[in-house]
Amino acid sequence: MPERTRYIAANWKMHKTVAEAAEFVDALLPRIAATQSDVVLCPPFTALNEVVQRRYGTAVKVAAQNMHEEESGAFTGEVSAAMLVELDVEAVVLGHSERRQYFNETDEALVRKVPVALAAGLEPILCVGESEAARDAGETEEVLERQLQADLAGVESLDLARVVIAYEPIWAIGTGRTASPEQAQEACAYIRDVVRMRGGVADELRVLYGGSVKPGNAAELLALPDVDGALVGGAALDAEDFAAIVEAS
Ligand code: PEP
Repeated sequence: MPERTRYIAANWKMHKTVAEAAEFVDALLPRIAATQSDVVLCPPFTALNEVVQRRYGTAVKVAAQNMHEEESGAFTGEVSAAMLVELDVEAVVLGHSERRQYFNETDEALVRKVPVALAAGLEPILCVGESEAARDAGETEEVLERQLQADLAGVESLDLARVVIAYEPIWAIGTGRTASPEQAQEACAYIRDVVRMRGGVADELRVLYGGSVKPGNAAELLALPDVDGALVGGAALDAEDFAAIVEAS
């Protein structure tokens, strides 16, 4: 089985000014200098350039938190893949549950966004995950399969392993409630199975867990066989906490 490089991403959401982002990067870089993992910072659009500039000369990658599927046009407030690539951004978070819930990010948009990102050379970090009601109803796998089939429908089988998939149970995001190791392992293994059924090179696919990952629970989650990394929100706002999670990977 191929070795999958660990992948730890910091989703800052709508946090950090340019000055705060600069301070974070300067505090983080010396703390993670020895890591073998892929470390990815996802600042708000306004801080992308600052983070890109400060991480030059390191292995740290930068991701945007959203992207429009069209090349250009009358889409006030949106940015295109080419605009991100021009900044030297390497990845983009797509389909985060907050965007699905508050900004009407639909599967119809995602089926176009994922291949557009890939074609532009951006690594898509596609988020999927069930609500608490769906988990209680025993529908977790159904929801994951539906989202994956819909959002990845425009991706060729051979390209599937170029997508990073984050399993983010909605009930665990920002709530302090983490999925149990059994729940995280089961869901991440299932995601790999769905990609395998789609003809993807599933052994190379990176599947992340996201949902209240903290320095205290990271090692246990990252030790699971099908969890290749973490998408971290709250605990990624503090350089020391995020560095501790990177260190656990
Ligand atoms: C997220 O924003 O994707 C996330 C997982 O947030 P938190 O770590 O705060 O639950």
